[in-house]
Amino acid sequence: IGISIYPDDGTNKVELIKNANTALKRAKKNGAAHYQLYSANMNIESFKNFQLETDLHTAIKNGELYIEYQPKVDIKLQKATSAEALIRWKHPLWGDVSPMEFITIAEESNYHREISEFVIDTVCMQVNEWERKGIDFNTISFNLSAKDFLKSSLISTLKAAINRYHINPNHLEIELTEGTLLQETSVVQDQIEQVKAMGITLALDDFGTGYSSIHYLKKLPSDTIKIDRSFIHHIHKNAEDRIIVKSIIELSKGLKKTVVAEGVENEDQYSILRSIGCDLIQGYYYSKSVSAKRMTEFFEMKQIKPVSCNTIVPVNRRRYYRVDFPYFPLHTEMTIVSFNGKAVSLGTTDVIVLDIGLGGLRFQSHLRLKPHDNILYKFRTTLIGKDITFNGTIVRFEEKEQDIFEYGVELQISEADRDELAQVLNKITLQMKQNP
Ligand code: C2E
Ligand code: CA
Ligand code: CA
Repeated sequence: IGISIYPDDGTNKVELIKNANTALKRAKKNGAAHYQLYSANMNIESFKNFQLETDLHTAIKNGELYIEYQPKVDIKLQKATSAEALIRWKHPLWGDVSPMEFITIAEESNYHREISEFVIDTVCMQVNEWERKGIDFNTISFNLSAKDFLKSSLISTLKAAINRYHINPNHLEIELTEGTLLQETSVVQDQIEQVKAMGITLALDDFGTGYSSIHYLKKLPSDTIKIDRSFIHHIHKNAEDRIIVKSIIELSKGLKKTVVAEGVENEDQYSILRSIGCDLIQGYYYSKSVSAKRMTEFFEMKQIKPVSCNTIVPVNRRRYYRVDFPYFPLHTEMTIVSFNGKAVSLGTTDVIVLDIGLGGLRFQSHLRLKPHDNILYKFRTTLIGKDITFNGTIVRFEEKEQDIFEYGVELQISEADRDELAQVLNKITLQMKQNP
């Protein structure tokens, strides 16, 4: 049973039924004989997933999905010679939704076929444009999940797109993870042969994170190895990672495969990779994913320069004095109280508050949220024995590390509450001065 309740979960019949249906889907996931209320018992994360699931079907139709390209830079030439196509979803309310969040949702629904067809079509159309413009590049790669790759229609979809845009299939590369290749081996083997016969190359993505890497290195006719960014991340600090990456490079080269290092973010990582003979570099050191237009400019550059890091000077936007919690970040419960002007009742999610002032606060979470006036959050915590709650909207955010986000919140509180908060903060400041 899926349940929605008037007026919180909808003010008309259509909306109430739609939300009850969404709740029903969720209830079914838990197995037989379950019920689910539309929003209660859901925390922000499941609420978001919920909404993404219902909105996905209109995303393609409304043009909310699009593709960005991230350059792969040839270390010797210092030139962008290839690129990876990455899918993006600009959701009207949740903002930029990561593919990590919606690809799995898509795979559980019927939309994943539409999505992979959209990716293939868009990439081929773009390759056609670059070919017509006489742009010099090697390959444009795109990602296919196991489900995409195992579909019997894949080959005809690829052929149709290649013919539609009259492109050279040598310009295409498919990125697959080991996980994909471990499935139903005979079907996979057959698909691989057909793809290769068309002239499309194959890349082994996230290399090093699977189980039988070396075995696959030998068995798989992949042309490219992409070393997972978890090995690159500490390469300048960790000797073991350096040895592993160096060995992967030597091994791959011996097998005549091209090696790409993923997630290269700084000069130290880059220098090491250069000294140990890596072929291609992909990562924020050169560029994040960009529009096709910007990618064209990258291809046209004789040499690509790294983005100078740390050029963004944090501006102090705070109007009020703040109390920092450097030693004991403040555990706080967060929930959404209204969404798009409508009240919702959700469970809470734990976040960590780093500092708090009369104007706002800063917190960290693994959730991806977007600054938006139409989403009102409620925070609840305890400060020196006092229960404190306040509402606020997210006004800025920054990705601190992979999957850790930092948010700036502007508080929306009454003057009386502000006075009360001021008293508490003053007390804390005094105490911290005496004993940090
Ligand atoms: P992936 O294939 O490993 O793609 C690389 C991811 O690393 C991208 O995240 C990219 O933005 C990010 N990245 C690139 N350079 C750096 C760096 O220097 N530092 C850090 N921290 N990250 C970097 P994105 O775009 O969020 O994609 C995440 C994953 O979603 C992809 O991982 C891929 O598995 C999947 N994905 C993306 N597009 C598609 C698609 O069209 N179809 C399918 N099935 N999956 C896709
Ligand atoms: Ca990839
Ligand atoms: Ca990867």
